[in-house]
Amino acid sequence: MEIIKDITNTNRTISNNRKIEYLVMHYVGAVSTARNNASYFKNTYRGASAHYFVDDNEVVQVVEDKDIAWHCGNDVYYSGARNSNSLSIEMCCYRMSNGNLNITADTEARAVELAKELIKKYNIPIENVVRHYDVTHKNCPAPFVTDEERWNNFKKKLQGEDVQEETPDKNNDSDYEKRVKNWQDTMNLDYKCGLEIDGSFGPACREQALEHYLYYKIPTIKNEHVKVIQVNLNRHGANLEVDRSFGPATEQAVKDFQKKNGLTVDGFVGADTTAALLK
Ligand SMILES: [Zn+2]
Repeated sequence: MEIIKDITNTNRTISNNRKIEYLVMHYVGAVSTARNNASYFKNTYRGASAHYFVDDNEVVQVVEDKDIAWHCGNDVYYSGARNSNSLSIEMCCYRMSNGNLNITADTEARAVELAKELIKKYNIPIENVVRHYDVTHKNCPAPFVTDEERWNNFKKKLQGEDVQEETPDKNNDSDYEKRVKNWQDTMNLDYKCGLEIDGSFGPACREQALEHYLYYKIPTIKNEHVKVIQVNLNRHGANLEVDRSFGPATEQAVKDFQKKNGLTVDGFVGADTTAALLK
């Protein structure tokens, strides 16, 4: 498979004789792309790293296979894997409407393809393909820790088995419906506006979004409504701290989103911006 190399200058230990025995799977734990991660680790000391970053579109290698990446520690914890005897793959994430991070089916499929190549190349036994969680009990990759079956399926795919499963899709309709329902529920809680929780963004929703539009002012607007908007801005690529407070960073993220989506760039979250954000 095609692998883009953007090797870090600092975040790795040079080695010329290590034996690769394990492959450790991770998730990035934030919304970002493989290339973003490569540039994050490129020149500045971060005290951490990984060999490969995978997203929906590509694989970027940051540490050479022969060198040691800093991803699961130097000691033996719950598995025999440690930095010095393993390779590492980091999967990039998106944010779901409930605020949790997840890994798309596309990213996972690309990680499977890459892992298969590495397993073959270095003759890594399938039982030595582990989660970061298996090594140190860190909740990583979280979607494969909370859902043990998904991890089992991942390993089946590595062995060439056909797995039938419901794959996460950030654009599928049921997720969209859940997002709208979550927004409706939040509006009812914050403003007691009595919206029907039907998952459809109709005229009544538009009216309430206009009535309770969000914008940056001092003191800032602070409520659950702001939180839902921040979560959805992050889902669309912003990297906001979800703090329930509509400050300047949130305003800027709204403007960026509006610009990207052909909306009036005013930093106000009214009906049109809300409708677009929930998509
Ligand atoms: Zn990890």
